[in-house]
Amino acid sequence: MGGIAAIAGSAAFTGTFKGEVITPEVPEYEDARLIWNRDFDRRPRVIVRPVDTDDVVAAVRFARDNDLLVAVRSGGHSYPGHSTCDDGMVIDLGRMNRIRLDPETGIVRAQAGVLLRDVDSATAVHGLVLPAGIVSHTGLAGLALGGGIGYLTRSFGLTCDQFVRLRVVTAAGDVVTASATENEDLFWGLKGGGGNFGIVTEFECRTHVLGNVQGGQLYFPMSQAVDVILGLGEIMEHAPREMCVSHGLAVNPAFTPAADESEWLLAVNVVYRGEPGDEPLREVTGFAKPVHNSIGPANFLEAQQRFDNASGHGTGWYMKSGHTRELSSSLVESFVQHSLDHLEIASPNVLQEVFSLHSIGGAAGDVAEDDTAYSGRAAQWHCSIEVGFTKPQERERVVGWTRRAWETTRQHLDMTTSYVNMMFQDGSGSLADVYGDAKLQRLRQVKTAWDPQNFFRLNSNIKPLGGDQLDG
Ligand SMILES: Cc1cc2nc3c(=O)[nH]c(=O)nc-3n(C[C@H](O)[C@H](O)[C@H](O)COP(=O)(O)OP(=O)(O)OC[C@H]3O[C@@H](n4cnc5c(N)ncnc54)[C@H](O)[C@@H]3O)c2cc1C
Repeated sequence: MGGIAAIAGSAAFTGTFKGEVITPEVPEYEDARLIWNRDFDRRPRVIVRPVDTDDVVAAVRFARDNDLLVAVRSGGHSYPGHSTCDDGMVIDLGRMNRIRLDPETGIVRAQAGVLLRDVDSATAVHGLVLPAGIVSHTGLAGLALGGGIGYLTRSFGLTCDQFVRLRVVTAAGDVVTASATENEDLFWGLKGGGGNFGIVTEFECRTHVLGNVQGGQLYFPMSQAVDVILGLGEIMEHAPREMCVSHGLAVNPAFTPAADESEWLLAVNVVYRGEPGDEPLREVTGFAKPVHNSIGPANFLEAQQRFDNASGHGTGWYMKSGHTRELSSSLVESFVQHSLDHLEIASPNVLQEVFSLHSIGGAAGDVAEDDTAYSGRAAQWHCSIEVGFTKPQERERVVGWTRRAWETTRQHLDMTTSYVNMMFQDGSGSLADVYGDAKLQRLRQVKTAWDPQNFFRLNSNIKPLGGDQLDG
């Protein structure tokens, strides 16, 4: 294999490639190599930033011909650090960030490097929305290819449910289209199978009419958390799809000036598509007495950015997550107890939070389980424990604690599936847990058809059939 200079200066590469090529010798390298999760301090041999699909083809072919390990990056928010690598090539799509919306059809065409805030801004001016995640600096591509859960999942479904057509660069370096009528197996796999099958360079997606939004937070003392979560759980069983609640546990009291600062809080985020006086909203807000209530007419773009700072770059993160149909009292009690216990390991170097229970279901359940790679359509709640640390020496303590907390919590979930975008494939989680055995087998068939050599292996890796020895 050639050295760094050989790659950067290779006529075979630079002759066709129009974007940026960043190697360790240039000052931009130190910033360019970093991803959101600072637990992954890796040093790629080269970072390339394509400007169009042809550039992506050139990068894939060059990496393949030179036997280079490839990491694909769009928003750089991979929790398990898949979008960087040591000694290989990072294909960073961040410069491919054009968005076009046809207001007549409501179809948005977004290049793979866009962030959620770019899509939200482009669609909001027309009163439209693409349902996606809740932190606006997350990349659309990685989120959508794993599924895409957010405040509007109950209203409109997952982000991947909105796919109309995807442009894909394959492991062979070809450009293909995937849709309901073209390369259907690939289209199926890209709806929840992550980055296993190729590099998506353009997403064509349906958007929806957003309408008026009411939202904000209700804060309760942690001593009331079990009762409030269970009570709201019952309300959500018959709530309309326009209603989404999301619980954050053991929230730092400093987040709300109205609270008693000596007491940790349960934060209930509410996003409701409707009017202030609607019965479902009155039921959710009137059900218990919060210490602070900020629910009111909301700007959706602001709601989407509310956690941007709290989830900023520069911290190490580890997490576990799973699905459940029902919020049983044993699950909620275990969850609340673990969030309180966590305060004992929290320190200036270990962030409090984020224990979260996010309501899903609704339109996500309209799609049959076998119609997409995404698994767990019957889930009504997504449960996660996400822990941040600012000092690498805290890693072992934080990861060990999170795994133990999850081992007991997961026993109270009534489903076995989980969310691939929040999975660390590190011995304490497997793809069979995410998809179930039968669907994982089907995903392996798709992988075999499109990437038999496991070229795209820095992801939650689905091995091609007969390729268990291929690294991943
Ligand atoms: C702060 C934060 C908030 C989050 N909130 C939510 C949320 O509300 N809802 C939710 O569903 N998820 C959420 N997530 C998880 C998120 O969906 C995943 O981390 C996702 O992978 C991020 O996408 P990205 O493009 O930013 O990531 P990247 O790190 O760029 O990519 C992650 C992986 O996706 C694949 N990939 C990326 N781009 C492409 C492409 N163009 N073609 C093929 N494969 C590609 C690759 O395998 C890559 O390793 C959040 C993550 C973070 C860090």
